[in-house]
Amino acid sequence: MLNVPPQAFPAPSSQQRVAAGGRAKVPLKPGRSLMDWIRLTKSGRDLTGLKGRLIEVTEDELAKHNKKEDCWICIRGFVYNVTPYMEYHPGGEDELMKAAGADGTDLFDQVHRWVNYESMLKECLVGRMAVKPIAAPKGMLPEKKVLGASARDLTPSYDWFQTDSLITIVIYTKQKDMNAELVIVDCQDKRLRGEIIVDDHSYLVEVDLDHAVQEDVAVNIAEKVGKVEIILKKKDNIHWKMLGQALESHNTFIKRTERGLFYRKCKLVSKTEVTHDTKLLCLMLPRSTHLCVPIGQHVYLKQTIAGTEVVKPYTPVLPFLPLDFKEPPRHDGAHLYLMIKIYSCGLFTQALDHLQIGDYISVSNPEGSFKKSQVQTSEDLFLLAAGTGFTPMVKLLNFALTEVGCLRTVRLIFFNKTEDDILWRNQLEQLALKDERFEVQFILSQPTKDWVGKQGKISSPLLSEFVKRSRKDSKVLICICGPTPFTEQGVQYLKDLGYSQEEIHTFTA
Ligand code: FAD
Ligand code: NAD
Repeated sequence: MLNVPPQAFPAPSSQQRVAAGGRAKVPLKPGRSLMDWIRLTKSGRDLTGLKGRLIEVTEDELAKHNKKEDCWICIRGFVYNVTPYMEYHPGGEDELMKAAGADGTDLFDQVHRWVNYESMLKECLVGRMAVKPIAAPKGMLPEKKVLGASARDLTPSYDWFQTDSLITIVIYTKQKDMNAELVIVDCQDKRLRGEIIVDDHSYLVEVDLDHAVQEDVAVNIAEKVGKVEIILKKKDNIHWKMLGQALESHNTFIKRTERGLFYRKCKLVSKTEVTHDTKLLCLMLPRSTHLCVPIGQHVYLKQTIAGTEVVKPYTPVLPFLPLDFKEPPRHDGAHLYLMIKIYSCGLFTQALDHLQIGDYISVSNPEGSFKKSQVQTSEDLFLLAAGTGFTPMVKLLNFALTEVGCLRTVRLIFFNKTEDDILWRNQLEQLALKDERFEVQFILSQPTKDWVGKQGKISSPLLSEFVKRSRKDSKVLICICGPTPFTEQGVQYLKDLGYSQEEIHTFTA
């Protein structure tokens, strides 16, 4: 059962009011939360005005529906009547109106590519755009989808071969620093999907295999030459005549942002308490998945809540903060650890909290803009985290102390409401004792009388006290993560203190 209050939801500080990526959100009227929208879509009301009929929409017809009280929008060739959704849109009516009567695909992709609009707006579907006939030159095969001349130079290629028991798919990229984080492989029900990230592009091998294979998949990477091998074990030792049938996006090389999110089901294997309201969830990836989430990146979790698919971002952490930095921690690659605050009124986190050990949840490929190189050249690293905004700092902190030789100072300034809210306080204090480069400062916004430490919210005086270059010209990186107002204010104060945009990284979806 979902524990969702019908009114006064979302609360003023709710995530449903906070745009991903720090964009301004407008306050929604009471009764206009995501859950209220889901309820309306299930009510049986005719939301398109077409009594369930689907029509072909011409550009002229689409353009006519460009008013708040009659608004149609096209996303990826499908037209939706979003008039009933206006008051429920977390970004406000004006944002939605920017695409009124037009193709909103680009706008949608810029703002919330990860939102599952097909599910959210399924009751608003009017139909498909009518396709204009295009005269195709005779005798030409469809070209591989490649963007730009520079991308074309880097286009990977693939080949495959077999032995009695194995199928090996070899992908040749021209990327010299190819590594495990850039290779994502899934193989489910004979469907193989191998994605290789090359800069901001993605190459995909996607086939319906000719025969069944066993569950475990091996991936070998020759880092220096940029060669990736995906090794599958045949279920039956028979000769394959072909690798399989190419699926729609097979052998394409396109911008990463244009690739749809891919999900695989992961099993919840443990759930442990971190604080009174925050839990560490351990999810096990399928044996047929090869996926490593890079530092500072997040994944999307997808759950069906009251019949609608809802998607939210979460940043994987380590199972604990390793104290011994002599060797980088071994990552088993088979588990994802997520530190998640359960909100008593939270639509998604309440549903997550109701998952039982052994249940499955859909997890997407990683996304995010943080690059290790940003920290590799830094001498002073400052991490400003508020609440669960601590999550991207975990792997970052570990990487910085383990693998960045030039670092002199690593300071975490951790903002919380109360002492009870501080995540991994003991571990952080132990780490500070162990490594003299690392310092942690806790700042509470709602402390009890006994708190002797710093108090307040993010402010210019606090930042000028704690964010300082160790030398006049030292290279600094300041990472910020927390509620959107916290992040926005932090960036502004830092700029006022003279730090440049290049010295600041904010974590957003
Ligand atoms: P909603 O239904 O959106 O909100 C419901 C209720 O939550 C509100 O009524 C309010 O009571 C409460 N609430 C929400 N936010 C606040 C707040 N800031 N202060 C007070 N009350 C609040 N969250 C994690 O826990 N761990 C992560 O690793 C993590 N990673 C993220 C990564 C990215 C890139 C982004 C953008 C967000 C991340 N989040 C993370 C937040 C997460 O995506 C959800 O927004 C969050 O779990 C709330 O979802 P919900 O549907 O339960 O809450
Ligand atoms: P919280 O409500 O417990 O607040 C923690 C601290 O944040 C407060 O003590 C205060 O110092 C500061 N704060 C809160 N609201 C503020 C405001 N309006 N102005 C200035 N400072 C403010 O925090 P929480 O419930 O743990 O929420 C964590 C937030 O971090 C969520 O919004 C979540 O979406 C975000 N988050 C983002 C990412 C990411 O990668 N972008 C990752 C994890 C969490």
